[in-house]
Amino acid sequence: MSRCELLIVGAGPAGVTTALSAVHARPELAGKIVLVEKYNFPREKYCAGALGMRGEKLLRAIDAMPDVPSIPFDGIRFRGLFGQTEARLASIGRVVRRVEFDHALARIAQGRGVRIDEGVQVLGVENASDGVILKTNRGSYESNVVIGADGVGSVVRKALGLPHGDLRAQVLELDTEILAHERDLAMVDFDAADRELPGYYWDFPTVVDGQRLMCRGVYKLLVDGSDGTDIRERFAARLRGMGLSIDRYKNKRYAERGLEVLAVLGEGRLLLVGEAAGIDPATGEGIAQAIEYGTIAGTFIAEAVARDTSDIGSAFDAHFRTTRLYRDLRIRERFARHFYGKDRESIDRFFVESDAAIHVGCQHFANEPYDGLKLVEAGARAVSHGVGAVLERALRGTQ
Ligand SMILES: Cc1cc2nc3c(=O)[nH]c(=O)nc-3n(C[C@H](O)[C@H](O)[C@H](O)COP(=O)(O)OP(=O)(O)OC[C@H]3O[C@@H](n4cnc5c(N)ncnc54)[C@H](O)[C@@H]3O)c2cc1C
Repeated sequence: MSRCELLIVGAGPAGVTTALSAVHARPELAGKIVLVEKYNFPREKYCAGALGMRGEKLLRAIDAMPDVPSIPFDGIRFRGLFGQTEARLASIGRVVRRVEFDHALARIAQGRGVRIDEGVQVLGVENASDGVILKTNRGSYESNVVIGADGVGSVVRKALGLPHGDLRAQVLELDTEILAHERDLAMVDFDAADRELPGYYWDFPTVVDGQRLMCRGVYKLLVDGSDGTDIRERFAARLRGMGLSIDRYKNKRYAERGLEVLAVLGEGRLLLVGEAAGIDPATGEGIAQAIEYGTIAGTFIAEAVARDTSDIGSAFDAHFRTTRLYRDLRIRERFARHFYGKDRESIDRFFVESDAAIHVGCQHFANEPYDGLKLVEAGARAVSHGVGAVLERALRGTQ
């Protein structure tokens, strides 16, 4: 049996950033952390790869931003039921390929002394008297503390006995050639103009093996159980309208459950980070959040391991609830329930009739200070469009 101080399940951005941040705060932890990852790198991860500057800045702060091919973007466009709006900033983020980004991030962690056991799938988690035992396809591991960074189907989350949330997302993506009118596009495009779809389509410029392509996809969020919308059919129709056939491209399909932040994020010697804990259900954005979770958890753990770790999970849970990320995710969750529910029309009008809200959104994504005038304008519009009450309810629900 392999024994360690800290065991992290999953070497995606949440798991690897947790390790990197812990080692950054306390370098002597490097030899005490083991990451286990069920695949061997480089491994594919279905994802459109839009990484906000918020996440990039956190990695740069610990000198760990991977140097991989990417397409920077300086604008966000939102198309709604009643029109479209867009905003630009000098730098909002970049589109990366996860197969490259995650591999490079994992190699940076290894370069700092973190052990990553690839091809190791955790099958079960058991509490022992002075630690946690993980059963894997390659034998057992024992650790003082276990961090579940194993994504949406997390086995650590199951071991905590946590239910799935009630939100359920379906996603389908593919990469196509860039169309003539998109050639100079340096923005990410969200199209929520399809009334039949409780969700949106996206078009993000990307780079695959040195070739510029367009990553396109559809995101559907079910708030109240199921509906009959067939996302492939609707997406195929949209692509046909662009002169593209869905059958010509590799369809990458994904169903995600429970993106919302859960009631408990840790207990005993177990804690959760990243998509295993909950990301943004409104857009499905999760890379920057995974990185921020990792930064919070790694810094917290580096300090906490020096003390009694028998209930580090509850301590992390209480700590996480004081963070900006927690408040942000709770607001987005409430927002998603309204936007994909009965308040869609009023929120849609609010967005498309001015660029103020989307401008502030760009600044949030990029982690730039908010423009006070735009903030006031967005607030005033929210009130005049009757979404002030909706947003207030959303904010109140987070307290
Ligand atoms: C189609 C699609 C498009 C998306 N587009 C975007 C986007 O443009 N921008 C954005 O910000 N977010 C996007 N997301 C969300 C984003 O991909 C995730 O939120 C993000 O990857 C979460 O990071 P993570 O580290 O928490 O989990 P993951 O990246 O899922 O990493 C979890 C890791 O754990 C490993 N693992 C799982 N189970 C086990 C086990 N039992 N034992 C060992 N290892 C295990 C997995 O192999 C994986 O490497 C998209 C998601 C999808 C599905």
